[in-house]
Amino acid sequence: MGREMLTNSLVELDRQHLVHPVSSFRGHEARGVRVLRSAKGATVTDSEGRELLDGFAGLWCVNAGYGHESVVEAAAEQMRRLPYATGYFDLGSEPPIRLAAALADRAPGNLNHVYFTLGGSDAVDSTIRFVRYYWHALGQPDRDQFISVEQGYHGSTTMGAGLTALPGFHDGFGVPYAWQHKISSHYLYRNPLGDDPQAVIDASVAELRAKVAAIGEDRVAAFYVEPIQGSGGVLVPPAGWIKAMRDLCTELGILFVADEVITGFGRTGPIFASADEGIVPDLLTCAKGLTSGYVPMGAVIMSDHVYEVIAEGAGAKAVGHGFTYSAHPVSAAVALEVLALYEGGIFENGIRAGKRLMAGLETLRDHPLVGDVRGRGMLAAVELVTDKTLKTPLPAEMQPATRLFDRAWEQGLVIRSFAQGIFGYAPPLCCTDEEIDEIVARTRKVLDITLDDPEMRAVLR
Ligand code: PLP
Repeated sequence: MGREMLTNSLVELDRQHLVHPVSSFRGHEARGVRVLRSAKGATVTDSEGRELLDGFAGLWCVNAGYGHESVVEAAAEQMRRLPYATGYFDLGSEPPIRLAAALADRAPGNLNHVYFTLGGSDAVDSTIRFVRYYWHALGQPDRDQFISVEQGYHGSTTMGAGLTALPGFHDGFGVPYAWQHKISSHYLYRNPLGDDPQAVIDASVAELRAKVAAIGEDRVAAFYVEPIQGSGGVLVPPAGWIKAMRDLCTELGILFVADEVITGFGRTGPIFASADEGIVPDLLTCAKGLTSGYVPMGAVIMSDHVYEVIAEGAGAKAVGHGFTYSAHPVSAAVALEVLALYEGGIFENGIRAGKRLMAGLETLRDHPLVGDVRGRGMLAAVELVTDKTLKTPLPAEMQPATRLFDRAWEQGLVIRSFAQGIFGYAPPLCCTDEEIDEIVARTRKVLDITLDDPEMRAVLR
């Protein structure tokens, strides 16, 4: 079969049978799938042979880059030797034990106990169960109220989607539940208080304090936060915000959960972004970069005191939470090899490339469509507006998400294109200087083409 025929038949099969995550089913049927065939480094190749720079590392996960033979070898070797071992019945296998120890060694403070999941959503969901169990074990079962942050994303399970604060994950699903509360996001660019960092920190602290008081001081179980809000549009809090929220949770006696599914594994520089402000969460979730996306895996890392309270509370009883594929040996073998690559130079490269990326994106500020540039390390966003003074978002009827994504694709660039007209960047940490410069240059091209779009001209001030 020729390449084009093969692609056509795949598009048709996909249309008929494959349900895509977070997609308009009808919109996807109309647009059809774009099939990727192979990848190397930071470049992906589609089924027609078109090469694109992956400025989003798949779904902010392929932090090490594509095509590392040593990772393939680690997976193959583990599959040959022992493709599966359960963690139930006191059984185990070597890779997840070594990986748990390696993560405990590198995680902040006393985060020393690792429960492995299959990805980020079930890691978040697991924390909800562990947090509830923790308070039951302490004899405070009424602490069953959870607080998270507007614009936050904490996955797509039924319980996690209610902590998530993006309407698309709520509408039609009957969440959030009454026990899931939110406080405002820091969203500096659009914060009604302006962009004075201390004013924003003070306001968030006051809001969380007031929220806890309103719910009842002895009712709140935990506060969830992403060190940088990812799916909400790459919203970077002012320096000191995370630390202020952590300190307040300590003062109020509620658990602090850092959701590092995106920010983990070098995305902002250090292995965990919690280190950026020297905080130690009570529980930390991670996934994505843990295996660099080569195979599925996530983790909950819990502090000594959370673990101890649960252990003591359960006594000889089993803590009834488990997945068949928790601590999967092949995923763990991959994660160990990926960690070796990260620490063998990729983290370091990511720090260098991140500075170049931020400096490059900053040069786009002069463009008539660019309202804001923000980010940290290899996690960044460019927010488009039609009026810089009024910060007017691109009109929804222009369907900026698909239109701008398509335009970037035409320029050989894969980026995240958020619904409200925000470009998201999370390139593999292995990017060369030339690749970073290309990401910036191609973005400018997309901006110029968009500026020439007659529909855009009509709404531009
Ligand atoms: N938490 C955060 C902060 C995320 O960004 C994501 C995914 O993007 C998740 C949880 C869910 O992870 P997954 O898609 O692996 O289930």
